Amino acid sequence: MTAALVRAAGDLASQMAGLDLRGRIRLVEDRIPGRLVFTTSLGIEDQALTHALALNKGRTEIVTLDTGRLYPETYDVWTETEAAYGIRIRAYAPERIAEEDFVAREGINGFRHSVAARQACCGFRKVEPLGRALDGAAAWFTGLRAGQSANRADTPLAEADEGRGLIKVNPLADWSRADVDRFVRDNFIPYNTLHDRGFPSIGCAPCTRAIKIGEDERAGRWWWEQESKKECGLHLHRQDDEKTLGDVAPGQEAAAFEEPASAATSREHRRELV
Ligand code: SF4
Repeated sequence: MTAALVRAAGDLASQMAGLDLRGRIRLVEDRIPGRLVFTTSLGIEDQALTHALALNKGRTEIVTLDTGRLYPETYDVWTETEAAYGIRIRAYAPERIAEEDFVAREGINGFRHSVAARQACCGFRKVEPLGRALDGAAAWFTGLRAGQSANRADTPLAEADEGRGLIKVNPLADWSRADVDRFVRDNFIPYNTLHDRGFPSIGCAPCTRAIKIGEDERAGRWWWEQESKKECGLHLHRQDDEKTLGDVAPGQEAAAFEEPASAATSREHRRELV
């Protein structure tokens, strides 16, 4: 099973290489039977993917993880996107009991108390719903790009996610941030206005702030934590992430989470879009 999955992902990646974005998506939908899921964070890369999926009118489900703590601007672009393309983006929300227990135990912003508390919050708000979103999926589309960070430098167009038993498809893996900006601009794709206000990466409101020029693009995420590495959690099949998760307490392995980050500041983005 694993060897077959790795081989299938490698073959798919080779065939995707020469195609444009919509062609890549079509190829995956043609080649992989079963449930196909795209998890969008509503960030700019994911908006490019949503655009291509919506125009293709294929069979990939577009879903998002509604943590309940997102910025109003994120809900705005979500609404705008559904209206623009005539689609519904299915939301996966945290389990009520888990949320109530966490808030009762730690407080509404209790994720600031410790790394473990933050990881627990990400666990029930993001990672557990992600598991439900991908339940039974044969392929998982993401907006990951190799240029987003050093940890993602080896992101392929398609790879085996052996932990989840599916093929993870990254159709933007070889795109630059400038490619994404150009695509969004040329196709009049709705995007989160926070990208114009210093947010290269947009996550939950209380855990994401704008960055200053010269700051690392991840500087705005969980900025009160001192750990040098915040690139872990969602993409658990990667070796580095598994090593990082090995350091957290039992039961919190799936708690850290990462969303797509851009490789440029929002000022650069604005220049590209204007
Ligand atoms: Fe909780 Fe912050 Fe993680 Fe969102 S990013 S799930 S608010 S800890």
